[in-house]
Amino acid sequence: MINIVDISKRFGHIAALNKLNLQIPAGSIYGLIGPNGAGKSTLLRLLVGLVAQDAGSIDISCLIPDEIGYLPERPRFPTRFTISEYLRLLGTVSGISDIDLGRQVRESLDMTGLASIAHRRMQGGSKGMLQRLALAQAIMDRPELLILDEPFAGLDPGAQAAMRDVLLQLNRNGSTILLSTHRLADVTQVCTHLAILSRGHIIRKGLMEEVIPGSTRVILTLDNLATDVQDQISAIPGDIRFDGNSIDLPDGDLTLKNAVIQVLISAGIDVTRLERKRVSLEETYIAAISGGLVEEEE
Ligand code: ATP
Repeated sequence: MINIVDISKRFGHIAALNKLNLQIPAGSIYGLIGPNGAGKSTLLRLLVGLVAQDAGSIDISCLIPDEIGYLPERPRFPTRFTISEYLRLLGTVSGISDIDLGRQVRESLDMTGLASIAHRRMQGGSKGMLQRLALAQAIMDRPELLILDEPFAGLDPGAQAAMRDVLLQLNRNGSTILLSTHRLADVTQVCTHLAILSRGHIIRKGLMEEVIPGSTRVILTLDNLATDVQDQISAIPGDIRFDGNSIDLPDGDLTLKNAVIQVLISAGIDVTRLERKRVSLEETYIAAISGGLVEEEE
C-alpha cells in the first residue's frame, strides 16, 4: 500500500533519515520503535507532508490526502471551544457535509470515550483527554491510513488499554495504522508489523514474529559440559548458545534439539534442568540498538 524508497532527510548537519526503505501493507498495524532522535517523527511528518524529503520517494498514490488521519507527537488545540464544538468546526473545515457531520462527530466521540464530556471546554483538559481528542480528530474523516505519533504518551494504564482497543477496532473496520511509540508492551499487543529505527535507518522490520525471531528458547542445564562435547554440539548447524554448563536453543527447531540431545546421550551427560524462556521484544530491541543484531540490507 505504501512504499517508502531510499528516503533521506537532513536538518543542517543532522541526518534525521538516511536512505530508509519501508513497505507498509494495507490492513496492517505497523509499529515504529527506536531511541530518541532515531527519526520516527520525521518519517511520520514526511508521510503527511509536513516536511519534504531531500531524496527518495514515497508512493501513497493509492490514497487521496483526505484518507490520511494524523495524530501529532504534541497535539495543540484552541482552548476556547468545547470538545464537540471543536470537532464540528474541524469537520466543516475539512469539507464533511452537514448531513454526515453530526453522525461522524458522534461516532468519533463514542469511539474515543469522549461522548460523556463532549460539552467540556478544552482549556485545562487533562493530557489523557487531549490525547483522546487528538485521536478523535484524526479519525473524523474515517481515514484509510492513520498515522499516530506516540498515541499512548501520557495516558494512564486504563486509558492506554482503551487506546489499544480503539486502534484494534479501527483496524478491524479497515484502517491501516502506522504508529510510533516507546511503549514496547503496547507494540506486542496491537502491532502486526514492526520496524526498529536507529540513527535514521531501519535495523529490523517485518511481521512481528520475524522481528522477534525464535521467540521461545529452551535452556538445557547439564551436570557438566566437557570441551569435546561442546565442540561436537557447536558443529551442529543452528542457533546454539553456550553459557557455562547451559545450552540455549530455539524451541521451534525440533531437528536441532534432537541432534543436541543425541550428542548428550552418547556422551552420557545428564540434563539436570530444562526450562523454556520467552525472548521479549525488549531483549530484541536492546540487542538491535546496541549493535547486537546484524543490520538489515536496505
Ligand atoms: P523521539 O523518540 O525523541 O520523539 P524521534 O525518533 O521521533 O525521536 P525525530 O524527532 O524524527 O526523532 O528526530 C530525528 C533527528 O532530527 C533528531 O536529531 C532531531 O533533533 C532532528 N530534528 C527533527 N526535526 C528537526 C527540526 N525541525 N529541526 C532540526 N532538527 C530536527
